Amino acid sequence: MVEIMSDARVDTSAMYEQDNVVPLNDVVEIEVEKLSIVFGAGAREVIAVDRASLSIKRGEFVCIVGPSGCGKSTLLNAVAGFETPYDGVVRVGGRVVTGPGPDRGMVFQQPTLFPWKTVRSNVAYGPRMMGKGNAEAFRMADELLEIVGLKQVATAYPHVLSGGMRQRVAIARALANNPEVLLMDEPFGALDAQTREIMQENLLEVWSKIGSTVLFITHDIDEAIFLADRILVMSASPGRILREVQVTLPRPRNTDLTLSPEFIALKKSCLEVIRAECLRAYESQKNNQK
Ligand code: ADP
Ligand code: MG
Repeated sequence: MVEIMSDARVDTSAMYEQDNVVPLNDVVEIEVEKLSIVFGAGAREVIAVDRASLSIKRGEFVCIVGPSGCGKSTLLNAVAGFETPYDGVVRVGGRVVTGPGPDRGMVFQQPTLFPWKTVRSNVAYGPRMMGKGNAEAFRMADELLEIVGLKQVATAYPHVLSGGMRQRVAIARALANNPEVLLMDEPFGALDAQTREIMQENLLEVWSKIGSTVLFITHDIDEAIFLADRILVMSASPGRILREVQVTLPRPRNTDLTLSPEFIALKKSCLEVIRAECLRAYESQKNNQK
């Protein structure tokens, strides 16, 4: 099923030329409708996500930014199927999400690799679990390691790799099940600034090759603008989608772009939205304490 979807994704060209056919990249891949997620009960109740709605097209790269604790991870976890909606619905590829699945690959801030397995075996693990034979799983792993630029360390163990390299292995591993959607929760948050820039460029390169839909969480505005087609700004807790910012900067992008007037103008307008939101949250907190 996953492979059929991915083949269809590659073969979009013919569809543009016909009338009455919706181009594949106009197809909605992720749909979140009035999603609320509540933790705890009574006096300890926390509304982590409050009636958030969003719609992401197939092949789109969307970043969610928002202040710490606003519910970004909770929202992403609901798309991943790790959290159950209190209210509302999440659909991926038209199907209602009821739990995790191989159609969604996830990358966390801390790479979760098996330390006792080589890089190659870490990446091959998913396909093997999905019933692929050893040879096929390793072939897929090698192909992905080539894409993320880690072919030379395929037989190394994770502990000898740098943080950035480990995170690239985690990306390759998330892609190994050929997911329609890649979900990334501040994947570069723990890396130093230089490594982060390299990782961002590498991720865009990988994305241009695989074409999957990406939902990427960050609190770094520069990162969001550099990566995204579209940025969704979340409000401070309880988390709602507050604003949407289209990023029309040309692709392919490299880090020089961050110095361009267009980039800086976009950053200014994003920061204005976020600053106003942080101020609003601060004021309401102060009033609640009175
Ligand atoms: P973000 O990723 O934007 O920093 P989170 O989604 O992690 O925010 O958290 C949103 C809110 O939900 C926070 O107030 C957090 O404390 C709370 N929260 C998250 N996970 C849980 C949980 N498992 N149990 C209770 N509260 C939680
Ligand atoms: Mg988080």
